Amino acid sequence: MTYAITQTCCNDATCVAVCPVNCIHPTPEEPDFGTTEMLYIDPKSCIDCGACADACPVDAIFPVDRLTGRLREYEAVNAEYYADRAPAAATDPAVFHPWGEPSFDRSIPAGFAPIRVAIVGTGPAGMYAAEDLLLHTNAEVTLIDRLPVAGGLVRYGVAPDHPATKGAGESLARFHTHPRARVRLGVDIGVDVTPEELSAHHDAVVYAVGAPSDRRLGIPGEDLPGSVSATSLVSWYNAHPETGADAVRLSAERVVVVGNGNVALDVARVLVSDPGALARTDIADHALAALRDARVREVVLLGRRGPEDAAYTASELLALKHLPGVDLVVDAHDPRTGAAIDAAGPGRRRCSSGRRPGGGGLDAGPAGSGAGSCCASTPPRSRPSGPTPCGRSG
Ligand SMILES: Cc1cc2nc3c(=O)[nH]c(=O)nc-3n(C[C@H](O)[C@H](O)[C@H](O)COP(=O)(O)OP(=O)(O)OC[C@H]3O[C@@H](n4cnc5c(N)ncnc54)[C@H](O)[C@@H]3O)c2cc1C
Ligand code: SF4
Ligand code: SF4
Repeated sequence: MTYAITQTCCNDATCVAVCPVNCIHPTPEEPDFGTTEMLYIDPKSCIDCGACADACPVDAIFPVDRLTGRLREYEAVNAEYYADRAPAAATDPAVFHPWGEPSFDRSIPAGFAPIRVAIVGTGPAGMYAAEDLLLHTNAEVTLIDRLPVAGGLVRYGVAPDHPATKGAGESLARFHTHPRARVRLGVDIGVDVTPEELSAHHDAVVYAVGAPSDRRLGIPGEDLPGSVSATSLVSWYNAHPETGADAVRLSAERVVVVGNGNVALDVARVLVSDPGALARTDIADHALAALRDARVREVVLLGRRGPEDAAYTASELLALKHLPGVDLVVDAHDPRTGAAIDAAGPGRRRCSSGRRPGGGGLDAGPAGSGAGSCCASTPPRSRPSGPTPCGRSG
């Protein structure tokens, strides 16, 4: 029996460091690291010890015989990564971490007084900085956030139906109560306290403030009624304190999502999910009520380039494909789209649509007329002959 990594993997490589036989790849030292959608366990080398599953902060690792439903295909997804790779060199079991654990010089002179460090931002970046300082130095850490709840985008960005990923927030929050940590919420640096004031009272300040604003497209019509940024929409369904309950209206039957990264898939999935299932998550009450009344029956995802350039990960697409009562279709009027999907193996599949020769920009036409598109609709209904089921060959 072997273990397999599944959908929620966020590539932080925590599991790599605990695997006694070095069978999780790519490791941070390997060239592929950062280019693959997730990490993969080599089924031929795994010794079934379970250490990686215990270490994973988002519960992404399971024994393959416990994979059920939509997670079952991750056995093949993991194995596929190793199909065309030479077996890993034999590892001396007596040598732990033979691939070279990253090391940092933390030498602080003996007797050095505790330093005072302010960390602005309580998202993952801020909390990993706090963890490192608290575990490896004698620093006193002040954690500051402008919002009344800590966690950054893990709390206010990650989709409510991804509880395992949201659960990473609990793991990060364990340092809030560390004896050398203080948490100051509702303090906006630059508004309530100046950076100069902060510096004057601390030996060092770490700014881990994330990327809070929208990326504007700068095109005419961007602000027409009915157009909202993903930032507003995900804040709305995550009950962000600065986003009102009426920030999003769902009176239309068809929603077009411009872009095709994982946030686009999050938005599409939430819009077509059964509200009864969403009710079991921590989705905002106002969003749940609006989704219960919504008339949305179709979500079109627009990609300006072809499947090979789609930005989302295959695991998120697979999740959309398995949503009960939802059809996932690809606008495959361009044969290159089907060819690109057929050519991709498990774990590398992409969904989008054929781009027109020379590339289709956002201004190339409405959904399905030129720019790449992929849509999810509910409930299942008949479609024109062009689009084909996504992931049709795997
Ligand atoms: C919609 C969405 C969905 C996502 N889903 C996933 C997912 O499923 N899996 C995954 O792995 N990743 C996901 N991500 C990515 C992940 O959430 C981010 O990569 C991660 O949260 C970034 O961490 P960070 O600490 O850099 O920034 P953030 O999480 O943004 O944290 C920054 C913090 O700084 C605070 N701050 C900013 N300015 C100030 C100031 N002036 N004073 C005080 N505090 C301030 C903010 O309030 C915030 O709490 C998602 C991102 C988004 C937007
Ligand atoms: S510990 Fe979990 S999230 Fe991190 S790389 Fe391993 S499987 Fe992915
Ligand atoms: S179960 Fe053990 S041997 Fe297998 S991948 Fe996880 S840590 Fe490595």
